[in-house]
Amino acid sequence: MSEAQQSSTVDVAVIGAGAMGATVALHLARGGMTAALIDRGDVCREASGVNAGTLTLHMTRAALIPYAMRGRQLWIDAPEWLGSDVGARSAPGLSLAFTPAEHDMLEKRAAARSAMGAPIRLVTPAEARQIEPGLNAGVIAAAYCELDGHVTAYLTGRAYRQALLAAGVTVMEHSPVDAIHRHGAGFDILVGGRRQIRAKRLVLAGGVWLETMLAWIGLRVPVKCLVNQLIVTERMRPVMRSVVGIANGLLSLKQFENGSVLIGGGWQGIGDPQRGGVEANPDNLVGNVRLARHAIPALAETRILRIWLGLESETADAMPMIGALPGIDDAYVIGCVHSGYTSAPYMGLLLAERILGREPEMPLFDPARLILPDPVGQPDITNPLEKTA
Ligand SMILES: Cc1cc2nc3c(=O)[nH]c(=O)nc-3n(C[C@H](O)[C@H](O)[C@H](O)COP(=O)(O)OP(=O)(O)OC[C@H]3O[C@@H](n4cnc5c(N)ncnc54)[C@H](O)[C@@H]3O)c2cc1C
Repeated sequence: MSEAQQSSTVDVAVIGAGAMGATVALHLARGGMTAALIDRGDVCREASGVNAGTLTLHMTRAALIPYAMRGRQLWIDAPEWLGSDVGARSAPGLSLAFTPAEHDMLEKRAAARSAMGAPIRLVTPAEARQIEPGLNAGVIAAAYCELDGHVTAYLTGRAYRQALLAAGVTVMEHSPVDAIHRHGAGFDILVGGRRQIRAKRLVLAGGVWLETMLAWIGLRVPVKCLVNQLIVTERMRPVMRSVVGIANGLLSLKQFENGSVLIGGGWQGIGDPQRGGVEANPDNLVGNVRLARHAIPALAETRILRIWLGLESETADAMPMIGALPGIDDAYVIGCVHSGYTSAPYMGLLLAERILGREPEMPLFDPARLILPDPVGQPDITNPLEKTA
């Protein structure tokens, strides 16, 4: 960082270069603001670069379906607005039931999602096998969505970095922020105790690290950390062409063009925001693989190539946190979105619209509802940043 950069003031500093923060920074720069995007690592190398890449309406919370449908389309159209492909492919999505209890669950979930506009309908086992010939014959019902798909998540960072630089965003990687101080009406962003940049506006986009980031400015917001395990197989002959899940959400399965199959479903490993993903849980790996082989029996022919862990964030009410922070002028937060990769390009656009002074096309998700009272006194969020200064 040069002296000139240190002393310059940007219109907005976005902290956290996952898909959420990167999207906000991109649209703010394209909207005419000078923007800095700061990450302790590389662009999109945490949840946004290691996720399962399922563009899913089946697994999205019903209330978020309209957002996920728009996000999914943006990923498909990425070459147009992002400038490069992230391997987004449209594919039919099937959610399966093997038991009467799962059948009930499937009906309820499909009804709730189709009421919110998702093109999801129940199909018979015979129809399901027409869509996906590789399915286990024991399927008793399935829900079909014509608008699912998948991306190759590790391509996300490269695509965003090119777009951000082309839009004139100052991208600061390997810059772990440790504090934020008020400076007049703006913010000083500190890395290693030294001011890295000064900004008129602040956007916190730290994924599972948002609890820590919000604490920098005196706000207490619990953020739950999920330690998701993923499994990729060796390349094998084509055995499936749809995105396959199960009614209870414990499976997400797809085969890429190169023949490898990605197996996920939210099975948990060991880790936390401080240490990252530490260790896989072997029982959960076995459970996940068994379920995958049960759904698509031909998977018995292949072997596991690699496993990894990634951290996913969730709020206390499992709904997103997107909008202006109460009591702190010009400070915003974005994150904790269920199936957040699918929705990220749209959610980020909405917050950018709001910061640019335009009316977002869809409502944001007020963070104020999630802020806990000050531990030592009354709930006072009038200006937490000044309290900690
Ligand atoms: C294993 C896994 C599988 C998933 N599968 C799917 C899926 O199939 N479909 C789907 O839709 N969603 C999926 N998700 C969810 C999705 O990946 C996330 O919701 C989304 O990527 C979150 O984006 P984000 O930008 O909020 O967070 P992140 O991508 O985690 O970005 C946060 C950024 O903040 C940075 N940061 C943290 N602390 C600091 C600091 N002190 N200073 C500077 N920078 C900092 C981090 O380095 C990171 O780059 C999955 C998640 C995981 C973990």
